[in-house]
Amino acid sequence: MNIQRHIPSLYIHIPFCASKCIYCDFNSIVMKSQIVDEYLSAIENELQAINGKYSFTTVYIGGGTPTVLNEIQLGKLLNIISKYVDVANLNEYTIEVNPGTLSDEKILALKESCIDRISIGIQSFNDKYLKLLGRIHTAQEAKDAFFSLREKGFENISIDLIYGYPTQALSEWRTDLRECLVLDPEHISAYCLTYEQGTPLVGMTDSGKLKKLSEEEELDMYEHTNDFLGNKGYRHYEISNFAKPGKECQHNTVYWENREYIGIGTGAFSYINGERYCNIKNVEEYISAVELKKSLICFSEKLPQEKRASEILIMALRMTSGISKNEFFNRSGYDLTELFGTQLNILTQAGLINFDDERIKLTRKGLSVADSVMMEFV
Ligand code: SF4
Repeated sequence: MNIQRHIPSLYIHIPFCASKCIYCDFNSIVMKSQIVDEYLSAIENELQAINGKYSFTTVYIGGGTPTVLNEIQLGKLLNIISKYVDVANLNEYTIEVNPGTLSDEKILALKESCIDRISIGIQSFNDKYLKLLGRIHTAQEAKDAFFSLREKGFENISIDLIYGYPTQALSEWRTDLRECLVLDPEHISAYCLTYEQGTPLVGMTDSGKLKKLSEEEELDMYEHTNDFLGNKGYRHYEISNFAKPGKECQHNTVYWENREYIGIGTGAFSYINGERYCNIKNVEEYISAVELKKSLICFSEKLPQEKRASEILIMALRMTSGISKNEFFNRSGYDLTELFGTQLNILTQAGLINFDDERIKLTRKGLSVADSVMMEFV
């Protein structure tokens, strides 16, 4: 008898984009149409290898830009996935879309494939900043794409926004948030612009062409986001994520709760049996490794138990609900106070965490300096 092991989440990576945004350090390349078919075959090979072994609760197709594939390629990708995964019985099936790459045919293909959650990368409703970032769409095109998705029946749509652009004023960010709410999405991810080494954005700031906002200005925007969205019925459930009740992203919650997942495609991470590993990042090398039946893994690690406990806490603190002492013990095998007693005292006194002997979570002040708080547990 074939008994399937349950793994909460499956991630499938599509590394292609129409062009490269200036801030992007994700694992993505400008689309070379000649290798898309080979890439899709490689993905099919990977899925075939796990066929029948696992069942999943969520599937997430991310990138890159999955919808940069043309109608035929996108249809092929969705068919491959449904051949090996019981997509009709998932709790959540998400795809990332870029407003500049959608067509009615593509939206219909998504709808027919059981996808029930869309994550749309709008980033800003201000054309000035969309242009600055190198996005391939205007604000109006983003709104049109959102309405087309709604019209075709998607009832669970998440919007990605970025704030903290060079020269951006708080009033401009407020306008973005208001425009976003006109669309009435179920979920909003709002990230502060990050300056990743090696990106054109960093080159432009280093050369003085662009000026980064101050930390205070970025913090004001973060605080405003939390207040504004909180008052409009969106629960602030993770540092940068807000959802209407029951619309929290189940897939990402698996990562934050340190549960198991499998990643398919170039650069995709998997985490099973306490071991984390990553696929080859270079697309051509990945395809050739699949074709030659070589190992796809370019990195793996099995953390010592104490490090794993630290990671469990750090990830859990990203959630505004934090983690209870019991959950921490069940997941890590350690008593929270025995392992981190000193840090817990210091951070509680500084007003950065709330620890009532039962549950630990970041305070509002702690959330705004979350990275520094987390460092205390490394
Ligand atoms: S669309 Fe997304 S993945 Fe592609 S280059 Fe822009 S930010 Fe990076």
